[in-house]
Amino acid sequence: MSDISTLKGVGPKLTERLAKLNIYEVADLLFHLPTRYQDRTVITPISQLEAGTEYVIEGEITGSSVRFGRKRSLLCSVEDGSGTITFRLFHFNRVQQNSLSRGKVVRCFGEVRSSGASSTILEMSHPEYQILTDNQNSPKLAESLTPIYPTTEGLRQRTLYSLTSQALTISLTKVEEYLPKSTLDSIQNFGGTTLPQALRALHRPEPTISTQQLNIYRDRIVFEELLARHLSLHQLLNKIKLRDASPLNADLSWLQLFLNKLPFSLTAAQQRATDTILADLQQPHPMQRLLQGDVGSGKTVVALIATLHAYASGAQSALMAPTELLAKQHYKNITAQLSQFTEIGSKPKVSFLSGSIKGSARREILEQLADGEIDILIGTHALFQKEVKFKKLALTIIDEQHRFGVEQRLALQQKGEDTKTATLPHQLIMTATPIPRTLAMSFYADLESTVIDELPPGRTPIKTVTIPESRREDILERVHASCIAGKQVYWVCPLIEESDILQCQAAVDSAQNITEQLPNLKIGLVHGRLKADEKEQVMNEFHQGNIDILVATTVIEVGVDVPNASLMIIENSERLGLSQLHQLRGRVGRGKVESSCVLLYRSPLSRVATERLQTIRNSNDGFQIAQKDLEMRGPGDFLGKRQTGIPLLRFADLIRDQHLIPLVEEQGAILLTQIDNPTIASNSEKLIKRWLPNSEKGVRSLLLHLYPSSCE
Ligand code: ADP
Ligand code: MG
Repeated sequence: MSDISTLKGVGPKLTERLAKLNIYEVADLLFHLPTRYQDRTVITPISQLEAGTEYVIEGEITGSSVRFGRKRSLLCSVEDGSGTITFRLFHFNRVQQNSLSRGKVVRCFGEVRSSGASSTILEMSHPEYQILTDNQNSPKLAESLTPIYPTTEGLRQRTLYSLTSQALTISLTKVEEYLPKSTLDSIQNFGGTTLPQALRALHRPEPTISTQQLNIYRDRIVFEELLARHLSLHQLLNKIKLRDASPLNADLSWLQLFLNKLPFSLTAAQQRATDTILADLQQPHPMQRLLQGDVGSGKTVVALIATLHAYASGAQSALMAPTELLAKQHYKNITAQLSQFTEIGSKPKVSFLSGSIKGSARREILEQLADGEIDILIGTHALFQKEVKFKKLALTIIDEQHRFGVEQRLALQQKGEDTKTATLPHQLIMTATPIPRTLAMSFYADLESTVIDELPPGRTPIKTVTIPESRREDILERVHASCIAGKQVYWVCPLIEESDILQCQAAVDSAQNITEQLPNLKIGLVHGRLKADEKEQVMNEFHQGNIDILVATTVIEVGVDVPNASLMIIENSERLGLSQLHQLRGRVGRGKVESSCVLLYRSPLSRVATERLQTIRNSNDGFQIAQKDLEMRGPGDFLGKRQTGIPLLRFADLIRDQHLIPLVEEQGAILLTQIDNPTIASNSEKLIKRWLPNSEKGVRSLLLHLYPSSCE
């Protein structure tokens, strides 16, 4: 293995930049692959250009002028006989301006964009350009596709090109194959392609290569990467499963008594989930379970049963929710549900903890936790602060946290580690944002998954309509009529600007406006800047039916449960993401009456916004919506910015490469059954290192803590 600094031109500064891309050794460069290619092999007639693509064009400048707008710019019209395009420079000097004059012939390379209201005018901003002179032969076009590498600040494509060229010369023949022959043999499409072949082709495609052939090489490499990821997460799961946990094996006779007291009976799906979880909890190894169920599918009661089982077994449990509002609601519902239930011996003591609980109240809770007096602790992130120490924490439940990365999950688990007995708590993670299969296998394969795929009976599907903001008056009338008929309404004012203050202001303004227009109704207001007890008071009033219309920001996005609310109006719906809209909408449709959701939007709608609103209007299926959301936003955004602990994939693209997932799962499963074979084990380890070298530093250091022997 040779260090990157052995290459020509690599000094300390470049080494540092390369490290940002996880490139440390020469061989790492081979696996730093272009994510796309530029086609500089042909000159495209201007009439054939399409916005969003890069082209080489050649034409004559037919006019050039400096425009003074918000920003000064130099505009040239370029014509090639088939059409005209505008060439725009924002930064230019006098020499450039003079040289780009009428009559000159230029060759440009750049991305074409449409400009102007009608979107029919095409433009290239700051293209690379060359002025061609009469007495000079036309410069040569590139012979093959130009690779474009993922890069970082201060690292130019040219440098990466030169470095990868050196790496191809030095290291390509030494690349080791870690996939067993049997795996490759069983893959028809690309199994016959060797690693060096595929790598060379992707770095330096032959001039004659077809897209189809290029895709075969790409699949070969993507398969490797996804398989590495699959193996690493499954090994993680297996390793956690080897750790000890307290088996919670209280006699289950209390369960039937509890179910008898519930005002409803569990759906078949809830029953299945409960059975699975109770079986997990009786194991002497930590449960690692992801419970997925669409909004309103009834995950909370399943969680409650799990905590009761922990209690009956003499252990503590913690339930964490992402917002104070939601945590408080869980606390109230659970306490209420338990108040009528005494069959598990004495009643469990349930407490609430959040950042807003301070001073002596907080001290008291901490003491009672450490003493083991509190059985079930419900709260926000505050549950996992350093000072919070449990006497015997055996179960942690995290609600509505689909955005947790592997690293955070491990950190939470570590938090619950009992250092005296070396046991880990059981972990249950609940989410209403269904995780599309592609993401699940790449980011959640360290969890076993259970799906509640059924809503409680008697729910009528929510009717969703999209209505332009200009018809606000009609909507107000409808809201009025609903309230007179005894229904309750959510009026949601989502993010207008990227600022919390402005967002709240929007809600304040709307509330005022609605109060003026509908003076005989009671209007409530919740937003993120209210104090916890103020929020709680408004929510209580709404719950009790004392408020007709609750004007809110997206604080009510997750989990809030008021069954009598059957109409939701969402302002500026065009600005929200699909999953968020679906979450919000899930606040209605919880009771027996028919519910509706009105999406108010401001015209004109962008193409993306139109597509989003259409999707949400036509579907009530969380899985379908999540898949669409993933496709529209890409995995990075979908998983959320907080997902910092997780490097996104290096080369694979979960949307483009979805077709490979079943193959990866199938072959991964086969490999894992053979992992006792030392060659397969060591090659799998090397494969994982190749693709996830130091990028998962956080995960690795936590792993090191949890399993000291697992990753030296
Ligand atoms: P989510 O899965 O979105 O967290 P909740 O647990 O908040 O859903 O449940 C939504 C509502 O459905 C609650 O009012 C809850 O009491 C009710 N519920 C849960 N399970 C059932 C059931 N089996 N039958 C009827 N209502 C149920
Ligand atoms: Mg919930």
